[in-house]
Amino acid sequence: MSARILDGRVIGKAIRNRTRLEVDDLVRITGVVPGLAVILIGDDPASRIYVANKIRACTDVGIRSSMIEYPKDVPADTLIDAIERLNDDPATHGILVQLPLPPHHDVRAVLHAISVEKDVDGFHLYNVGGLVVGDTIFSPCTPFGVMNILDHARIPIEGRNVTIVGASNIVGKPMALMMMRRDATVAVCHAKTRDLAQYTILADILVVAAGVPNLILPQMVRTGAVVIDVGINRLPDGRLVGDVDFEGVSRKASCITPVPGGVGPMTVTMLLVNTMSAARRFVERTRGPILTPVHPQDITQLA
Ligand code: NAD
Repeated sequence: MSARILDGRVIGKAIRNRTRLEVDDLVRITGVVPGLAVILIGDDPASRIYVANKIRACTDVGIRSSMIEYPKDVPADTLIDAIERLNDDPATHGILVQLPLPPHHDVRAVLHAISVEKDVDGFHLYNVGGLVVGDTIFSPCTPFGVMNILDHARIPIEGRNVTIVGASNIVGKPMALMMMRRDATVAVCHAKTRDLAQYTILADILVVAAGVPNLILPQMVRTGAVVIDVGINRLPDGRLVGDVDFEGVSRKASCITPVPGGVGPMTVTMLLVNTMSAARRFVERTRGPILTPVHPQDITQLA
């Protein structure tokens, strides 16, 4: 068996095309241009690349973006003041603080300073808690991207065994909650899990977000499983790989996401979707409901 590749670039492009139409409609009908502010602290080269990608993606769909940079030793008050100014700025609909923050910063205090209505990364306590009861405003972009890949590929979730490897606040835990909302049976594994393979082998859908190259080998995967590789690891030879032995596991899985080109492009795409949604919510809150055309998406051509 050779797995069907779930191409995040193709799926992401279709969603971005639809987002562009929605942005155009919003601008034409209301005059409001969706705006995203990105805050970058310190000089981590990987963060700089991620931020540049996000800003480019915004431009591509017509979202106005701005980047605010601070040195890594910026005082906490300065950061919180900047976030509060952006919270009050009617032209800014989404605020994103690029993670990870330099070590001495209190990530929770920073993330919780962002207004819930502008929390397009979905990391505010309200949005995290909303995942439990099902009324979150913005879902965190990476697990939201995974759900979109599965839905676009028409992979059923209800009643499936889903194993998630990795239990971080930004990927594994929200992923588990989103899968539970869709009535999957969910197991969450982490670095302290004993005998990882006994959980992964049960999975109809295996989502891996550990940050460990080659963690998932073919003998750990059930024949015909759907494998979603969230991991991004830079090898000493410069190659970018996920957490899954792609070659080996592709021969056993029914569907698999590549790295690069799988979940990564979807994460950025969901940020655009959330920012557009934040702008729309802003207009509806301040001016009342707006009627925009519906742009159905032809998902039959995807994945
Ligand atoms: P993290 O370090 O915060 O969490 C890693 C999780 O994996 C932890 O729960 C840890 O216990 C678990 N883990 C580590 N080693 C393990 C092992 N040997 N067996 C089982 N579990 C193990 O990382 P994160 O921020 O959740 O990111 C995870 C990976 O996903 C990284 O490679 C990161 O670069 C990638 N990532 C990708 C995207 C994307 O858009 N594709 C977005 C976010 C993170």
